[in-house]
Amino acid sequence: MRVFNFAAGPATMPLEVLEQAREELTDWSGSGMSVMEVSHRSKAFVAVAAAAETRLRRLLGVSDDYHVLFLQGGATGQFAAIPMNLAGPGDTVSYVNTGAWSKKAIGEARRFAEVEVVADEAASGYSTVPDATSLSPAPGSRYLHYTPNETIGGVEFGYVPDAGDVPLVADFSSTILSRPVDVDRFSLIYAGAQKNLGPAGICLVIVRKDLAGQARDGTPMVWDYAQMAAADSMLNTPPTLAWYLVGLVLEWVERQGGLPAMAARNRAKAEQLYTTIEESPFYSNPVAPAARSWMNVPFLLADSALEPTFLTEAREAGLVNLEGHRSVGGLRASIYNAMPLEGVTALTDFMKEFERRHG
Ligand SMILES: *Cc1c(COP(=O)(O)O)cnc(C)c1O
Repeated sequence: MRVFNFAAGPATMPLEVLEQAREELTDWSGSGMSVMEVSHRSKAFVAVAAAAETRLRRLLGVSDDYHVLFLQGGATGQFAAIPMNLAGPGDTVSYVNTGAWSKKAIGEARRFAEVEVVADEAASGYSTVPDATSLSPAPGSRYLHYTPNETIGGVEFGYVPDAGDVPLVADFSSTILSRPVDVDRFSLIYAGAQKNLGPAGICLVIVRKDLAGQARDGTPMVWDYAQMAAADSMLNTPPTLAWYLVGLVLEWVERQGGLPAMAARNRAKAEQLYTTIEESPFYSNPVAPAARSWMNVPFLLADSALEPTFLTEAREAGLVNLEGHRSVGGLRASIYNAMPLEGVTALTDFMKEFERRHG
């Protein structure tokens, strides 16, 4: 029996993808082996890797001006790789602080460059995003970094910052492929796979070709964008199983109708959940309405003492992993691409019924 899994990451995968993977597991593509047992240099696997890149480029509209890389070390690895590749020691880099993941990115960047925090939403308790007109990089910055969707706080930008001539860098880990995005506005987009792209263990990096090739001395070769691009992300053994599964997820997104269809579906899911929260004083959401995430919905019970009961009864109803991040508590439903509308409806029905019994 499958449950509806609202985990923030690793997160639920499309059932069709899991079923296809199971079907092909022991004898992949007539090879008599599983995909995880074949050489990453084999013709068959190289075709899988290339097809994933082609699909991703098509879905997101990534032009030939960009490398598409599939790396290891997660988004957290990129927190270091970005300053190592794009800035020299002592260079200024600008960061926007909208919450937990911004802070981690800033902390790591400080080890490599001079970080200027050009906007910080501390005053609102990280329940807002900065005003678009107030945002600009510090003079001389090598890049401006921001987090389009804060997975823990449930705060999402409704706009793409204007960084002028300064390269714009964005951590899309928890919102990639959730809706169309104008890639040309960005110099670098990165995303750990385990929210919207597939399983953990692989990290997508989309980087403008003219920004690769300037890595500082001492940059590990597996994190040097130019070296990895030259080797088609196979300087060493890539996470082949994860790469294959990302490919299946991308095929699935295409079958759903691509990013416009994902956006319509995600908007409907989010609206339904936020409406249920808003309709009743029994539930609340701490995020400013204009900054509410389509992907991660934190919420509170008016009586927080009921949280353990809520979680237990939800689990019994097949709705799991609704606890908030350990750093903030409360409750949180992550409703990534692979969460069907039926899952959100099961949750909102449960919430109304729970309120009826305990409100
Ligand atoms: C999950 C997440 C990360 C961390 O990803 P890892 O792959 O575990 O390093 C970074 N940024 C955001 C926005 C995330 O949601």
